[in-house]
Amino acid sequence: MEVRARSCDRATEFVSRELDGELSMFERALLGRHLQRCEPCAVYARQVAAVTEMVRAAPLEPIRVRNDVWRLPRRVSRLVQKVAVTAAVAAVGIWLVVASLETTRGRAPVTGGVAGSKAGAVTDDRHDWSAGLPRSMQVVQLLPGGLYGTSLGY
Ligand SMILES: [Zn+2]
Repeated sequence: MEVRARSCDRATEFVSRELDGELSMFERALLGRHLQRCEPCAVYARQVAAVTEMVRAAPLEPIRVRNDVWRLPRRVSRLVQKVAVTAAVAAVGIWLVVASLETTRGRAPVTGGVAGSKAGAVTDDRHDWSAGLPRSMQVVQLLPGGLYGTSLGY
């Protein structure tokens, strides 16, 4: 029984391979012999062959691809919109906070400024930013006469 089932498995595999034209002459002979002796496999082979023939004979139908297949689902696109709006609002808010901080700092009295400078004052007026950015830019020009320093205020 098991031997027969195994040969039937091979026969069904051979049937599909035969339809694809992949069987060797030897395999085709084996299949033919099996189909002569085994009625179920012969029925199966006829059915598969008929279905395959039908499918292959049927005219090709054009595949209609809807244009909106690649668009995001409405729900997802709404979510993306919401996130984008929220991010934009947050960015503007952060910018406003930073800008107001900068304004406040700019209005703050500068200690050790030119007006309040005393001899021996420790504060350095050239650097009033936390990052140590210079208040004025030193432009050095190389001229034939030598090095000249020019101070440019902002
Ligand atoms: Zn069989």
